[in-house]
Amino acid sequence: MRPALLLLAAACASAPRPQPERSRLGPLLLEAIRFPTVEGNEQARLDQQQWLLRTAQSLGLTARDAGPVTEIELPGPAGAPVLGLVVHGDVQPVDEKQWTVPPFAGIERDGVVYGRGAADDKGPLVQALLAMHAIRDLPRRHTVRLLVGSDEESGSTDMKTYLASHEPPTYSLVLDSAFPVVVGEKAWDGLAVLPADMAPGAGKPWIIEEIDAGLAPSIVPDRARLTLRWREGAPAWEDLEQRIRARSPAPGTRLEIARRGPLLDLVVQGRAAHAGVNVEGGRNALVSLARLVAGELPDCAMADLVAFAAHAGGDLKGAALGLDGVAEPGWDGWTVNVATLKKEPRLGDKLALVINLRRPPPLTGPQSREQLYAEVRKFSPRLVPGEIYFRDEPLVFDSSAKIVRRLMDAYARATGERPSPVVSGGGTYAKRIPNAIAFGMWFPGKPYPGHDSDEKIEVADLQRGLDVLVETLRDLAGGPPLQDPFRP
Ligand SMILES: [Zn+2]
Repeated sequence: MRPALLLLAAACASAPRPQPERSRLGPLLLEAIRFPTVEGNEQARLDQQQWLLRTAQSLGLTARDAGPVTEIELPGPAGAPVLGLVVHGDVQPVDEKQWTVPPFAGIERDGVVYGRGAADDKGPLVQALLAMHAIRDLPRRHTVRLLVGSDEESGSTDMKTYLASHEPPTYSLVLDSAFPVVVGEKAWDGLAVLPADMAPGAGKPWIIEEIDAGLAPSIVPDRARLTLRWREGAPAWEDLEQRIRARSPAPGTRLEIARRGPLLDLVVQGRAAHAGVNVEGGRNALVSLARLVAGELPDCAMADLVAFAAHAGGDLKGAALGLDGVAEPGWDGWTVNVATLKKEPRLGDKLALVINLRRPPPLTGPQSREQLYAEVRKFSPRLVPGEIYFRDEPLVFDSSAKIVRRLMDAYARATGERPSPVVSGGGTYAKRIPNAIAFGMWFPGKPYPGHDSDEKIEVADLQRGLDVLVETLRDLAGGPPLQDPFRP
């Protein structure tokens, strides 16, 4: 037996080790960032798709236009099961004024790539292409199929459309979250709060002229503006200005006051961050502004709305909304982002406050909506709750499932580290594709910069992530098909 064992060991040692083309990560990612694939930019989506088809072909991969999804494939033997990799090519919107680099220029500086999508999710897109390229000559018992979606950050109709006419992969890894592997994804709730009427109210010599804050529900707002108008006669803002300046803006936010004839602009700058996975890394400009003007607005529904923003944003875990008592252990509670206060396109352009909540079990969407609506009504009869979205539910995996253990082992082999599986406040395609689980590509220990201004990724992390993915594909695609991968 001994000689045979030795032979086997020798064979393993001499098996070709896949050599990913690490040096291409940066340049390819810069190219991908240069397509401004924000919601509604159909031309950028088409241009990026053409680039994907060309790039895949140049890497020896098969590529197909499948409508809102682009398929890129490394075929296995006939009839082989399909191992899916899933990413999205669209990105969150940007507020260019808040960036110190142009968001779609694609810039690499001191080993860091900057640009919208660098981390979410074009980095993983490029890593997936190069990982598939790296294993192209290894023996395979699976077809590896990369699915690139196109409206993950907005309408989220791409996968539904795709799956209506395409078989899903046998099992899929969604490369749009955190390492080592995501065994729980909170549900995405969107609460709207509207003023019952737009009456200017009484009690102050000024009225609320305009209010505008935030960019999108999933981004911590980094800018909020409230404009007041002096009612009659020559404006005399000094006392109000003095009182507001005497208050301190929330840590990490900054107040600017500017006079424009009869108008007074109060602007608070904060810091943007991903509302699902890095809310504590943000500095909420809207909540800070709402606190600064407490008691200084005329008695009206709009003032109640601003006060509700301050109330709901009192903490990031939803204690002010009575949510701290309704969370299963191990999920790290709720995550609350008081996100926007502006004309809301989803509600016929009515002015609304939008709060994004990431919900752990056990409440269902309808239960969450009921509880939040009651909180709004309790706060003020002049506020009307409304629905942005309450149709999501948390996704839960067994931590000892076969696929979870295989992914953890591959991660450990590639990095020498064995951190615990994580739960995430960010929802991914894993909720929309059968038999899919989120795996990477962000490493533990650093705040996730997706959705942030000056979004960036270190080239060293791109390389490490590529190594993990190559090892994972070598193992899963080269191994026998997993039976019941989501069971222990
Ligand atoms: Zn993403």
